[in-house]
Amino acid sequence: MSATRKSPLYKVRRSKIHGFGVFATRAIRKGTRVIEYLGDRISHKVADQRYEDKDEDDGHTFLFIVDRGVVIDAGVDGNDARFINHGCDPNCESVIEDRRVFIEAIRTIRPGEELKYDYQIGRADSDPANVDEIYACRCGAEACRGTMLWPARRPKKRAKKKAKAKSRAKSGVKPGAKKRARR
Ligand SMILES: [Zn+2]
Repeated sequence: MSATRKSPLYKVRRSKIHGFGVFATRAIRKGTRVIEYLGDRISHKVADQRYEDKDEDDGHTFLFIVDRGVVIDAGVDGNDARFINHGCDPNCESVIEDRRVFIEAIRTIRPGEELKYDYQIGRADSDPANVDEIYACRCGAEACRGTMLWPARRPKKRAKKKAKAKSRAKSGVKPGAKKRARR
């Protein structure tokens, strides 16, 4: 079955969720490391600068947070991993290992199924009022939370203050999350 083994696990094509998506071309077993998330490795500062003038309206970004120091920009030298859409009931997850990011199957995926993982895009104090609209989720899952942002709802003021006191970490910097361009 060497020919089967060598055939690709997935292909990129139009998705009903958003733009292009990545679809299984054969069964992918739970635990399979499907693809590495590749792109230009840059600092948060450079990432923010690179996209500060970019229009946020389509809520689309190829930035992935590795840790406090590194963001991967798949908009530059990125591979097919950048096309994997967000899903609220995902079949994949992102795994960070040695500051590299891999997309792995968290259950067995059938041929033809679209690959998805939870972007968990961080909220920030500077978010515009319509941020939930901009990052609205249309993944179609029964458990769809309606937004690619995490947490699902804007934290209440009291909770926000508490979180601020606990940590001085820059808001929105959550390893394993998709970053987004800020205005
Ligand atoms: Zn959803």
